[in-house]
Formats: sequence, C-alpha cells, structure tokens
Amino acid sequence: MSGPILPGATVGVLGSGQLGRMFAIAARRMGYRVHTFSPDDDTPTGQVADREIRGAYDDLDAVRSFAQGVDVVTFEFENVSSAAAEAAAEHAPVRPAGCVLHTTQNRLREKGFLAGAGFPVAPFAAVRSAAELTAALVRLGAPAILKTAGWGYDGKGQVKIAAPEEGDAAWDSLGVRGGDEAVLEAYVDFERELSVVAARGLDGACAHFGVIANDHSRHILDVAVAPAPVRPDTAREAVEIACGVLEELKVVGALCVELFLTRDGRLLVNELAPRPHNSGHLTFDACVTSQFEQQLRAICGLPLGATEMLRPAAMANLLGDLWQGGEPDWVAACRFPEVKLHLYGKATPRPGRKMGHLTALAQSAGEARDRVLAARAALTAGRT
Ligand code: ADP
Ligand code: MG
Repeated sequence: MSGPILPGATVGVLGSGQLGRMFAIAARRMGYRVHTFSPDDDTPTGQVADREIRGAYDDLDAVRSFAQGVDVVTFEFENVSSAAAEAAAEHAPVRPAGCVLHTTQNRLREKGFLAGAGFPVAPFAAVRSAAELTAALVRLGAPAILKTAGWGYDGKGQVKIAAPEEGDAAWDSLGVRGGDEAVLEAYVDFERELSVVAARGLDGACAHFGVIANDHSRHILDVAVAPAPVRPDTAREAVEIACGVLEELKVVGALCVELFLTRDGRLLVNELAPRPHNSGHLTFDACVTSQFEQQLRAICGLPLGATEMLRPAAMANLLGDLWQGGEPDWVAACRFPEVKLHLYGKATPRPGRKMGHLTALAQSAGEARDRVLAARAALTAGRT
C-alpha cells in the first residue's frame, strides 16, 4: 500500500456545505489544499477552499475530472450516487468507500445492515404501497413513523402515524413515487437522544469522542451537550456500538451513530451518518482533535489524534429563523468570553436552514448548556 497522503497534497470534497467548510478549515490549517465539488457556487465550503468546482453529482465526467485533480476524495454530502463514487475512485482513493455511502444513504439498507450485524434497532418494516403500510401497521402497531428510504434529513421525508387508520393519509402525504420504498419504524418513546462520533484510520484504529446528548426541535438538532449525562455503562455500550459499526463497515473516515436511550435504559441505533455530524461540531472548540481534523487524518492515512475533551461543552444551532427580525446581534454573543461563534457564510437565512452555531465551554456540561442558551438568547434580546 502507498504511504500517507502528506501536507501539501490536495483533498477533494464532494459536497459544499458547512461540514465541508469546517473540514476545509482543519485541512488548510495542516497545510493541505482543498477542492470542493457541488452544483452551487459561493458555497460554505467553496469560500474557504482553494478551488470550488461546479458540477452535477450525476455528471460522471465532471466527477472524474474533479478526482483527477486531487490526491484523495471524501464527502460531506452522503447522497452521492454509487456511480459517482465509482467514477471518482477511478482516479483517486475515495474514503469512506462508495459501499459505505451505498449502505448508509438508504434507510432500509442501513437498518438491514444494522439488524443483520446484531446492532440494536427499533422494529421496522419495508413499505412499498399503502396496502403494505396497512399490513406493517398491524405488525408494528401505532404510533409509528413512516420515512422515505432515501434523501431524508432534518426530519424531511417523514411523518408520524398516531393510529392505524391514519395509514392511507400518511402514505399520500409522504408522496413516495411509484417504485420507491419507505420504511415504517416503531415510535420510540425515548428518554434521550445520544450520538457517538468516531473515526477509523487506514490502519483500522478507532477513536471516538465519547457520548453527546442531543435535543431536537421540529426534528432538527437544537442543542448538543458533551459529555452526555448518562450512566457509565450506557456510555460504554454506546461507544462499543459506534466502534463496532465503523469496524463492521470498514469505514476509513468519520462516522456518527445516532441513538435513542429508551426509558428502560436500552440503546437503539436510530441512524448513521458516514461523515462528521452536527452534534460533533463542539469538538472543534472542546477537543484536542476536532471531528474534522480526525476525518482528514483518517482519509490521509495519518495516525488519529487524541479525542480528549479539554472542557465540557455545549453547542446550539443558529437557524435561519433567528434572522426573522433582522440581523442577530453578534456583538451580544461575543460578550460571552467562553462562547465561540461559527457562521457558515450562507447568504439567505431561510427558516430551518442551518446558518451557524455557538459553542460554549464551561466547568460542567450543564453549565455549558445554560451558557450557550444564554448567548443564543442574547442574539435577539434587543428586539422589541
Ligand atoms: P434525519 O435526522 O435524517 O432527518 P432521523 O431518523 O434522525 O432523520 O429523525 C429525525 C428526528 O425525528 C430524530 O432525531 C428523532 O427526534 C425523531 N425520530 C425519528 N425516528 C424516530 C422514532 N422511530 N421514534 C421516535 N422519534 C423518532
Ligand atoms: Mg437524524
């Protein structure tokens, strides 16, 4: 096998959002060049990359020529087709490999993989028609959640079904096209949502950032806190699941496992993201090595960095809604000396759109949470 991809080399990122932006910042800090490929321009990643290349993900020739110009390809957007990943792989190593994307970009394949490998998941069923949904509702019971198999994010492409007779309406509202699949999942009455971000190197070494506790609002991550306030055995089990998933999928790169902690103390895997994750943004300010630097180290074949948390931390997302009454008061947030402001360079603040985040450091996770929420409130406090 060839040696590590060293500083000075060029890393290609498929996708151009905030995950790519923070990855590019980490990569440039270590002396790498970064190229980004996506259908857009003036993107969050493109603004900090050496080159921003515009093209469609299904334009395989454009993907090939992008890959020709870099030493390794990674991605921050997981809905790249297998064909595009294969086209890129003709010219540069793709890490994680296309088969990892293939498994994780479709909820049915992902759940099939998890259940087959013995990882705990909530009961689920594949559904291709309203009739199949009715049958699945009998089997799984209500409440349940119906999700499109592909393309969902931030709660898009899913609908909760409170009672069996709501099945037909739910099927219609999801708008699944003929031939496409959906998955019905039993509704989990969870105590908490947790995540574990981990990375696996080319040599198979695995490093994780411990357990993060996540609060969602309108199905979008709102606040993440680390270390998560869970029992040590729960934390140990969550980390074991995450490292097991990375090993089973032979991931080279970063991956996040989203989990539910049920009220009776069981862990269930909700979903996987084969890349850095919103809940891991706090590692940028709170850990010796961030999730983005770890992704870089992994895909370049470098040794992984220490994941130790220097201080407890909390992250609060800044969604476009905050801009509704005008530009948020950035000075007010900067008055909190232990709060770090991250903005992604997006021009248009639509409701629900992730525009940036704040990270607070403190003596305890609870204190960090209070602090980050106070800083976020200060952004709009001056409004009448
Ligand atoms: P995505 O993050 O891709 O939009 P998720 O499957 O993670 O999709 O769902 C988003 C959120 O919806 C979850 O974080 C959780 O709050 C809620 N949710 C999803 N599936 C279930 C479930 N089976 N039971 C209870 N809540 C769920
Ligand atoms: Mg999710």
